[in-house]
Amino acid sequence: AQERYASIRDKPAETLCGKTISLMMNAGLMADLPSLQGSGAQGVGLFRTELQFLVRNKMPKRSELSALYARVLDAAQGQRVVFRTLDIGSDKVLPYMKPNDEPNPALGWRAIRVGLDKPGVMRMQLQALLRAANGRPLSVMFPFVAQFEEFRAARAEMDKAIAREEKLGHVLPERLEIGAMLETPSLAYAPDQFFDEVEFLSIGGNDLKQFFFAADRENERVRRRYDTLNVSFLTFLEQIVARCKNTNTQLSFCGEDAGRPVEALCLAAIGLHSLSMRPASIGPVKHLLRRSDLNAVKAAINEARERGDQSVRGAVMDYLRSA
Ligand code: PEP
Ligand code: MG
Repeated sequence: AQERYASIRDKPAETLCGKTISLMMNAGLMADLPSLQGSGAQGVGLFRTELQFLVRNKMPKRSELSALYARVLDAAQGQRVVFRTLDIGSDKVLPYMKPNDEPNPALGWRAIRVGLDKPGVMRMQLQALLRAANGRPLSVMFPFVAQFEEFRAARAEMDKAIAREEKLGHVLPERLEIGAMLETPSLAYAPDQFFDEVEFLSIGGNDLKQFFFAADRENERVRRRYDTLNVSFLTFLEQIVARCKNTNTQLSFCGEDAGRPVEALCLAAIGLHSLSMRPASIGPVKHLLRRSDLNAVKAAINEARERGDQSVRGAVMDYLRSA
């Protein structure tokens, strides 16, 4: 199998019906970077910056962060890297930060909520990113945005960081894209103006699914209870795809499900044409995409829906067996 994947490494993830799906990789540690060339990924769709904070015993300095982000951009050799600002709280607690005693950490003070309430660290991080880019294009996204106002406030922090850098005479990125993760159902129903203002959206399927089904992603008893290929969830994702299409908003998907071949196939079939996953998944996902017809998968999904199936998995597996 490894050889089979190596032979398609430099080929596009083009389906039998002629759609090319963009496959990117998720990363977070320097050790992940060599995979960028080895896996055939077209860039880093999600760089989880909190991992660098989690592996240390004290807060990193701005200069350290900036050197690190610069190395990530160097390794990417011009391919797109989407840096996600610090996503801490909930399951990710920094050893040097006072732990929060919260009844429901997953629903608590985490990610952008921390970033906006205590902006010191986020400001340092945004400045480090701008410096690391040193004139190169830069993509930044904010995690766990639940409403338009949070995105606006975070974006305002970026504007301030830019103004500061400019005043100091530092070179600014030649292109700057600011996006948000769509991880709470509320954001899917944000006003059109949000979709107009945000430059790109990335669905964080792990969190989105946990909140859609009210099923803790960390709890073994419930975490597999609801299938990602559940008809209700796919219908919800289709609505997000439609809103992004109508507002011309770039959309991708970066939860773990993007790296599971059958799930990735269904995501592509409902219109998610940019997927980001762990590097080892790129080969298997590409292999399946290259031998599938998305129209037929879409037809199988619709049949399952019309029949009232709970999940489309059976119908899609039937298609794969017959194809
Ligand atoms: C997600 O929620 O799907 C995601 C990509 O972010 P994380 O797994 O880091 O919460
Ligand atoms: Mg998440």
